[in-house]
Amino acid sequence: MQDRQNKCGFTSKLSTLKIVDSLAEITRYKDRELLERSLAVTLSELFLSDEFRFYRIITVTIDGVTELRLSLLTYANQGVVISEHQIHENELPSWLLELVTQAVETQNLTERVDPETGATHIIYIVYTKHDDIYGMLLHKSKQPSFESRRLIYGLLRIYSNYLALLEESHRDTLTNLLNREILDTEITKIIVSHAQYRSCETAKRRRSFDGCHAWLCLLDVDHFKRINDEWGHLYGDEVLILLARQLEKIFRKEDLVFRYGGEEFVTLFRTFSHEDAQAICERARNTIAQYSFPGVGRVTVSIGVAEIAHQPGSSIVIGQADKALYYAKEHGRNQIHFYDDLLTRGLIKPHAINQSNSSIDFF
Ligand code: GH3
Ligand code: MG
Ligand code: MG
Repeated sequence: MQDRQNKCGFTSKLSTLKIVDSLAEITRYKDRELLERSLAVTLSELFLSDEFRFYRIITVTIDGVTELRLSLLTYANQGVVISEHQIHENELPSWLLELVTQAVETQNLTERVDPETGATHIIYIVYTKHDDIYGMLLHKSKQPSFESRRLIYGLLRIYSNYLALLEESHRDTLTNLLNREILDTEITKIIVSHAQYRSCETAKRRRSFDGCHAWLCLLDVDHFKRINDEWGHLYGDEVLILLARQLEKIFRKEDLVFRYGGEEFVTLFRTFSHEDAQAICERARNTIAQYSFPGVGRVTVSIGVAEIAHQPGSSIVIGQADKALYYAKEHGRNQIHFYDDLLTRGLIKPHAINQSNSSIDFF
């Protein structure tokens, strides 16, 4: 049977198979970054002559004014896909930024033809749970057909639904924070990115990473058992939920907040200095200590912090923070200690590394 060429620019028999394969490929991954990359690969294979850029959208409200921040996650052009982090919105011309704002406001796709190149730019908005805007796809094409738009729209809906399911499986049911299962993955990603940037050939990229520190902050509620004993488990649960909301407010949107277990929480965040990390942790400790929990009153937390750098595995980072936390508990609670500081001052011994859980596959 002769394959018929359709308006998308590929044969109909091949396209059906390709689309089925694409769906299988997109939903093969459990890691969000791989998922995005696979979406970009799929789109660029289906539309070889087109360009796709996938951006993460963050809405930030400063002094009552809401602004959109875009960071490029994946870029695909003529079948070649590259991942690029932290490229700022000013990479897009203002007329395209307007198009994005319009798409976000109307919650619908928007498009415009670039008068200089004649290429059509189409913005698709991607949602996750509770109608939260997660990202947007910019599709640049000389002649986008109705069928190609429908296909891209359909693939994005599948991607978006799958992403929402994945997100849900990474959440703790009581606090809705990220759960312990995903913590290891996130720490490992930071360790691997450190290793990659250290060996980075271009000075420009190395410089952009120099001076940036990543931290793991482990917080444990002081005498939490007493809260349960005195007020009952329901009040205990309420304290955990309110603490989770406090932590989300204290840390920035791009930082990650986890419920590590029972009454223990972890945050992952970046700063340009040790002092900044201390100030952020101190703000967290102090804000929680000042907060009046309904019915229960004051609650304090002890904090242990470890820098994430070149440890051979995520469990080592957590072990180091735990050692600093233990020191805080032993020395009066409601305080913060950094693993490296304690070590330098000779107040603790190095965290023992267990060979069985200390290796990362970098490739
Ligand atoms: P410390 O200051 O040394 O950390 O003392 P603590 O009482 O906080 O620590 P301990 O480990 O002795 O007790 C933790 C308690 O947290 C025991 C456990 O019953 C309670 N817990 C763990 N998970 C939950 C939960 O989901 N809800 C409630 N209400 N309690 C929980
Ligand atoms: Mg504990
Ligand atoms: Mg505790």
